[in-house]
Amino acid sequence: MRPTAITADKTRATLVITWDDGLISELPFGFLSAWCPCAVCTEQRNASNPRSSTPATPVELEAIQPVGSYAINIVWKDGCRYGIYTWEYLRELDAMQRGMRP
Ligand SMILES: [Zn+2]
Repeated sequence: MRPTAITADKTRATLVITWDDGLISELPFGFLSAWCPCAVCTEQRNASNPRSSTPATPVELEAIQPVGSYAINIVWKDGCRYGIYTWEYLRELDAMQRGMRP
């Protein structure tokens, strides 16, 4: 499962990912940054209230950098800079957002 296109739609503050199986994920920046997968943010989420604590605070995207061929690093302007979002994790977030548990 790999993306064929990743587009940051800044007017809608949404990351649009087209996958090679035809699925299109639309992930709001606020949602993505709330689920930053880095160790520090994961620990913070677990310490507070997991799952229910997903505040969709608006954040600005500064950069998207490829990490090998399996992930992207998303740098948030006013949030965490260290999140490595693997393709698998992005699909999980997409499923979570659609209200399905992966
Ligand atoms: Zn983080």
